[in-house]
Amino acid sequence: MSRKLLTLGVATLLMATTLQAQEVKNIIYLIGDGMGLASASMMQLENNYEATIFDRADNIALQKTYSLDNRVTDSAAAGTALATGAKTNNTMLGILPDGTTPQTLMERASEHGKATGLVVTTYIQHATPAAFYAHVKSRHEYATISEQLLNSDIDIAIGGGMAFFDERYEGREGALEAISESGYALHHNLDDGDDEDKCLFILANKEIEHREGYLAKATAKAIEHLEGDDEGFVLMVEGSIIDGAGHGNDAEGQQREMLDFMEAIEVAVAFAERTPATLVVVTADHETGGLSLISSNADFNLSEQGVEYRWTTNGHSGIMVPIYLYGTGAELINGIVENSTLGAKLKAIIAE
Ligand SMILES: [Zn+2]
Repeated sequence: MSRKLLTLGVATLLMATTLQAQEVKNIIYLIGDGMGLASASMMQLENNYEATIFDRADNIALQKTYSLDNRVTDSAAAGTALATGAKTNNTMLGILPDGTTPQTLMERASEHGKATGLVVTTYIQHATPAAFYAHVKSRHEYATISEQLLNSDIDIAIGGGMAFFDERYEGREGALEAISESGYALHHNLDDGDDEDKCLFILANKEIEHREGYLAKATAKAIEHLEGDDEGFVLMVEGSIIDGAGHGNDAEGQQREMLDFMEAIEVAVAFAERTPATLVVVTADHETGGLSLISSNADFNLSEQGVEYRWTTNGHSGIMVPIYLYGTGAELINGIVENSTLGAKLKAIIAE
């Protein structure tokens, strides 16, 4: 190929990449808390290797999850990296050790006129969702985090956590008054209407107890609320309790939580398929439990002897976690990246 043709080719490719990047209007960011590659592999195995939603990804990448002060991250530092593009110390949320508060993906989206939403199975003040709107030294400052949510521009939030509003505003009466004054309409039932601009669906005191089909339904509801916005939207959906099952070394429990999460991914991908300019990013904040899929018999001269799910810790592990990408702009994230690089790239994509 001549130099000129090559240059032309590169220029066209660059233009195409830029055009592609400009086309991303909506981002649906799904985070499986504690979902390692072994969790996804377990679901493939349990599905007899029929294609799962993970197999249908348009592109994949891997991310390194370590935090600023620990090779094994917690959800606060990892959430901060994924939400702001900056690594921080474990337990810190939306704040760096020097006190700087990096802008979150949701704050950037609001600045660009986009609507924003959060859907979780745990309380809405928990580390992963809070990383998208809060800035506190410790993830355990739930009362302060509750107040920061009321002062945020998040358009719709669905999850548990009423107890922490009560704590912050000294009882239910005070909480209801503060929520109403903040401009949020409060609902306790997912089937309620969501006609108001800013809605809080707080469905439990802490975690959502009965979750069968919950995450998919809540994700569909949030998308419906956000999709009317002319400038597009950014929605974060967390499969929050995958982590809890990992801490408990409970393979069956993790399969249930993974299925719930995968149903939500299906909803997001179906939306992306019918709505051009939508990027779906599925990843985890870290792996939990050190899950391994091992043969029940170490003798490989034998045929199938069964597979065991073996856990190696009740805590988190430092292994890389997968990134699955679907839809417009799926080609923009590649290779092995830092968790913070993924957060920074998504912020850059919506600023274009
Ligand atoms: Zn955990």
